[in-house]
Amino acid sequence: MKRIAVYCGSNFGARPEYESVATEVGAHLAQKGLGVVFGGGSVGLMGVVARAALDAGGEVIGVMPEMFKELEDDSLELTEMHIVDSMHTRKAMMADLADGFIALPGGLGTMDEIFEIATWGQLEIHNKPAGFLNTAGYYNGLKSFLDHMVTEGFVKAEHRNMVMVEANIADLIDRFENYQPPQVSKLIGQ
Ligand code: AMP
Repeated sequence: MKRIAVYCGSNFGARPEYESVATEVGAHLAQKGLGVVFGGGSVGLMGVVARAALDAGGEVIGVMPEMFKELEDDSLELTEMHIVDSMHTRKAMMADLADGFIALPGGLGTMDEIFEIATWGQLEIHNKPAGFLNTAGYYNGLKSFLDHMVTEGFVKAEHRNMVMVEANIADLIDRFENYQPPQVSKLIGQ
């Protein structure tokens, strides 16, 4: 693994733990020699992750759609910044650049990004690991819902298990390093 995409809130969230974990993740990835691929924004947790990785000497690559550019203040000195034409181009480029995908606490944008990646894993468009960092139990409800999708017959257990949920960044990266993609049919209903 060379680079990890980090999806996270463009807000800070309601608890100080969220900002602390964003700092921890940026520093941890840099210390492991893993580059960070992110949405390019200086706002909320995304900015915190990027700054922490840069401060620790890490590579940080931003991929930002044109539409966000005027909201930004260029305060981050990134290793690389790609300005792209749309959200769709951004998501595709981030998926290509990264070797694994992490969702920190975040909102609808974060859910969209990590679930698209999980779906692409299920469809074997890529075979890279993806997981949630369950800081302060933020994803407890989602974890239960993932299990519920299996119980109710809409998701195969192998595909649900592909989507990791860990409380600690070091544990999540360890699991990424040992990841084996599932060996099940991607075809609907099979
Ligand atoms: P959310 O989880 O809803 O806070 O969304 C996180 C996502 O917000 C990011 O990945 C971006 O798509 C988007 N976003 C919001 N504001 C900005 C910004 N100023 N610069 C870059 N991306 C942003």
